Amino acid sequence: MTASSVTPFRIGDVWRDGDQGTHVLTSINPADGSVAGRVACATVEDVDAAVTCAWHAFQHAPWRNLRPDQRATTLYEIGRRLSAERETLAQLQMRDSGKPLKECQHMVDAAAGHFRYYAAVCETWQNEVTSPRGEYFSMALAEPFGVVACITPWNSPIMNEAQKAAPALAAGNAVLLKPSEETPQLAIELARICTEAGLPQGLLIALPGRGEDVGDALVRHPGVRMVSFTGGTDTGRIIGGIAGQRLIPVGLELGGKSPHIVFDDADVDRAVAGVMSGIFGSAGQSCVAGSRLFVQKSIYSTFIDALVERTRGLRVGLPDDADVQMGPLVSQAHRDRVARYVDIARSEGGQVRVGGDRPADGRLEKGCFYLPTVIDGLTNAARACQEEIFGPVLVTLPFEDEADVIAQGNDTPFGLAAGMWTADYARAWRVARALEAGSIWINTYKQSHIATPFGGFKDSGIGREKGLHGLRLYSQTKSVFFGMHAQPMGL
Ligand code: NDP
Repeated sequence: MTASSVTPFRIGDVWRDGDQGTHVLTSINPADGSVAGRVACATVEDVDAAVTCAWHAFQHAPWRNLRPDQRATTLYEIGRRLSAERETLAQLQMRDSGKPLKECQHMVDAAAGHFRYYAAVCETWQNEVTSPRGEYFSMALAEPFGVVACITPWNSPIMNEAQKAAPALAAGNAVLLKPSEETPQLAIELARICTEAGLPQGLLIALPGRGEDVGDALVRHPGVRMVSFTGGTDTGRIIGGIAGQRLIPVGLELGGKSPHIVFDDADVDRAVAGVMSGIFGSAGQSCVAGSRLFVQKSIYSTFIDALVERTRGLRVGLPDDADVQMGPLVSQAHRDRVARYVDIARSEGGQVRVGGDRPADGRLEKGCFYLPTVIDGLTNAARACQEEIFGPVLVTLPFEDEADVIAQGNDTPFGLAAGMWTADYARAWRVARALEAGSIWINTYKQSHIATPFGGFKDSGIGREKGLHGLRLYSQTKSVFFGMHAQPMGL
């Protein structure tokens, strides 16, 4: 495919090519503003056709009734093929999203790992048999919902898609996958790879389209029995509201404003490195970015000075530069949004210690680059400390003691993640228990694994993905009773 041709998507055996150009999504390479790809854009009518096709596949393809080891074989093969195409997929993702190539390679590895993991879970998953009780015995079966919709954001394409598709398929469902309109190409590739790996047609349909019509139509469609969404909290609220009205289950992985805490007994070198990777990795476009830094008062000044110095030395550059540490933001519009937040922070009394501007390097002029930024001098009530910026902007705040940092750390509507650096493990345990967040990192940050559940407290979401929780999210429980009565039943 060249960047000027339109990549079609398919609904079962029917290809959609974007009506010769009337319905096309153009993905822009954030590194230089060139066209990264053009993709046929789904319509509301396509949603209808896709739901019908997916239900047909769910009811008539033997997928859900295959033995678990047979389903696992296909899932494993999808993972193998993702790994085999690692370089091509990573390059495509780099052009779509602007992420550094090594991050994109890591995302493809993770996507492949998700399919391998759920192949293993699928094969070893046990249903429950209740202990014998009188004249019957009973069991609880995990049943698929049928057709589920998975809606993903732009910040981690292929990985986010795999995180939903792998467990949903392992549980026996058919999946309608709507990627972000900013990064539509990887979902189409995933659908192709699934088909080539032997997944029956119609069990995973990629629907590249816009959230406002295609995403909305998916959530409202009576044929969609469950929705799994990753994205912003405002969108999550709308989707959760519709799902509530329809009484269908929903999984919501939403935004964050995670506290990253440094106590005065921390290993300073490691903590500085952890704080920097926690916020500047993926140019801060990470739901778990450690975007509020709390440092204990006694070491505040020296710690922030060291952090500012090392941040100044970060290599911002083109995503395919071998030694790049931070690439561009996803779009000009998003960079403008990030820059606006820095202006707001300035107007609220914040002092920009480093960054706060575009890089001066002429090679980056056409891209959506923004410098890694550290802002000091705000209180936790400032907008830059309360609202998700989703960019390379770190606000720094001093704290007195354990009680103070727990109060400030929890003083946010979000509850996705939190991290801390300390030599005192008893304190780490107390603080970890007191922080309201779905993931807590102690002397590390942003570690994740497909086997460990992930999700948010408060406005950061509902439900858990990954691990065994991930399979449960896409299953509903059915209890079955077998009568063993010696005598006819009485009244
Ligand atoms: P959005 O909420 O804007 O969009 C996410 C997805 O939802 C996109 O596919 C979008 O389509 C679609 N969408 C938008 N409006 C609707 C609607 N009314 N009905 C159905 N679908 C809709 O988020 P972003 O793409 O901007 O992603 C950034 C956000 O995602 C951040 O807040 C980040 O924290 C969060 N996120 C959370 C993660 C987690 O696991 N907790 C992980 C990664 C990101 P379109 O692209 O066409 O607008």
